Amino acid sequence: MMENVEFVSLVVPPKERLGGRAWWFAIQDDKLLVHQDLAATTVPLLSDFGELALPILRQHYLGLLGGCHCFTVEIPKGLNPPTGMRFEGLRQVYGQMNETFFAVAGRALQIVDWDRTHQFCGRCGSRTRTHPTERAKECPQCGLLHFPRLAPAIIVLIQRGREVLLARSRRFETPMYSTLAGFVEPGETLEEAVIREVKEESGITVKEIRYFGSQPWPFPHSLMVGFTANYASGEITLSDGENVDVRWFTADNLPRLPGKLSIARKLIDWFVQKQTESSSSK
Ligand SMILES: [Zn+2]
Repeated sequence: MMENVEFVSLVVPPKERLGGRAWWFAIQDDKLLVHQDLAATTVPLLSDFGELALPILRQHYLGLLGGCHCFTVEIPKGLNPPTGMRFEGLRQVYGQMNETFFAVAGRALQIVDWDRTHQFCGRCGSRTRTHPTERAKECPQCGLLHFPRLAPAIIVLIQRGREVLLARSRRFETPMYSTLAGFVEPGETLEEAVIREVKEESGITVKEIRYFGSQPWPFPHSLMVGFTANYASGEITLSDGENVDVRWFTADNLPRLPGKLSIARKLIDWFVQKQTESSSSK
């Protein structure tokens, strides 16, 4: 499997494809059409999606993945996958698929969802049309452009000396702990969102907020913006009902953690690595 493929985002489909094959990211509900039998999870590579004899509701060009064209299509609900393929939830695909492919699959899911939910103008109610050169739905009546929705969320690792603050969310299906996270509100800076979310979810105040990195999170359209911060003051309280437990852990006594590719895990791994380095340098 190609490990370091580059993805170039494009909107305008190629005039002619010269018979070359393209990657097809086919979405049904929130699931992706993948090959059943291969060792690594992959999407169909076909000259034309019509080869699969599946009807489609919509189609968008995504760009080039390792020099190969990529399209996303939506398959109507209730249709069975072709022989040797299955519709797999994106959360299940996560970790089984090449990271760049997964990112394109997440992009495909969000574009299909955006197209499906922006068929009519939110201002005047007219039927929209897909903009020819931009990733936008355009209202022919009032001219309003509807871009794919992105919801920025902060995620933050909080340290207190050799300890890290982790929470067990009510939403987690498995009893695991993760870093605190929450959506940014209109009018708020990312740093203000960090301070507010941490206060709401744990009762503590943080300082020295530093940018760590970001990750698109297509469930359904978040952009996770990661930070580290240090404990400033306060005691843990569970006031907003989002978490069933929030507590301090040390690197040698961590609970069950989120999966390897998540930014939450990257933050925690960074913390553990730093602890290991500081104890080995003593
Ligand atoms: Zn309109």
